[in-house]
Amino acid sequence: MTVINQEKCTGCGTCVPYCPLGAISVVSKKAVIDQTICPNCYVCVRNKVCPFDAIEKQEIDTFIGQFQHIISDPVETTEQTGVPGRGTEESKTNDVTGRVKKGEVGICIDMGRPGIGCRLRDVEKVAMAVTSAGLKLEGEDTTPLAMLMEDNSKGKIKEEYLDTNVLSIIIEGKCPMETFPEIIKALQKVEKEIDTVFSLGVMVRVDENGYSPILEQMEQLGLPKPYRGKINVGLGRPLITE
Ligand code: SF4
Ligand code: SF4
Repeated sequence: MTVINQEKCTGCGTCVPYCPLGAISVVSKKAVIDQTICPNCYVCVRNKVCPFDAIEKQEIDTFIGQFQHIISDPVETTEQTGVPGRGTEESKTNDVTGRVKKGEVGICIDMGRPGIGCRLRDVEKVAMAVTSAGLKLEGEDTTPLAMLMEDNSKGKIKEEYLDTNVLSIIIEGKCPMETFPEIIKALQKVEKEIDTVFSLGVMVRVDENGYSPILEQMEQLGLPKPYRGKINVGLGRPLITE
């Protein structure tokens, strides 16, 4: 937990613009941190932004507090996945692991971002919308979000976590190629019901000519261009051959 030592704080305001979620304000000449917003990303602590050393870390003693911090601090590693940051490393290593197979589409919905953040209530809305449309979410061994789920097959997060704020978090899953349009329609509907932003990552395997029907599907769905492609070659030796 991040707190301001009120005795050391001079109210200079230097720390305020450094907070990526706008959680710090100066009230009556003292800085205060809104604990309902701050997910303990530790940007302010790590960068030693306070000239008077008034920003302090206190022990985080709840599971959800630890989760918030680990998911919001890019230098922390999620124990279950062994991966730093918010999601899995599958997006970058599918050529090695082969989680997304031919005929399937991997989906990464990257929710929130510095400056905005996101409440888990909105994450649940999106997760429930895409699972209803046919997306199978990743499990606890690969993605941190699954640890918060009451029912991962439905995208239902435990009630007590819904007001929690995080800097950003990734909803990950996969579906058959033919289900992809339903996922997009579900996202287009639910985006109007949430109070944050998301970006969409789509993962496919291409054939020997570098072709995937996903591009035609995206065209038919009217998704805005340009699409930004990323091809990872040589990150590791493939464990799959098909
Ligand atoms: S930078 Fe330090 S002294 Fe200045 S307002 Fe922030 S906490 Fe207080
Ligand atoms: S830990 Fe992060 S969110 Fe919290 S006050 Fe510091 S910079 Fe802001």
